[in-house]
Amino acid sequence: MSRQVRPSGLPLRERLELSKVVDPSGCWLWTLHISSKGYGTIWVAGKTQYAHRMAYEVFVGPIPVSMTVHHKCGTRHCMNPEHLELCSASENRKRAARIPLEEKIVRAHEMRAQGYSKNDISVLLGMNGQLVKRVLG
Ligand SMILES: [Zn+2]
Repeated sequence: MSRQVRPSGLPLRERLELSKVVDPSGCWLWTLHISSKGYGTIWVAGKTQYAHRMAYEVFVGPIPVSMTVHHKCGTRHCMNPEHLELCSASENRKRAARIPLEEKIVRAHEMRAQGYSKNDISVLLGMNGQLVKRVLG
């Protein structure tokens, strides 16, 4: 019997559990490094990985290549598996198409404040790039 060597010291599941604080809305907020785009990141097997994607894989199951992990709560550094769902790129676009323009403008400002680029906002909200630039100034 050989002992398993874990360079990170702890199994991934425990590392995730130890690196969160639960906020009143039930979000598991990531307490370690947050990327410039607002996602929690963790060093796993020699690579920087998104904490919410790792949480999805550890607590729910594998993420198919063609899918993204969507935050139902809208908080990018949340990793509560109950707040995460798989979403295809076309679903993301369909969802965005159902949001009224006034609400998109409000969201665009919020996303900008959270550090999203204008290009990301344009893609994620399905808004014309020129419009995003005009709205956000
Ligand atoms: Zn959440």
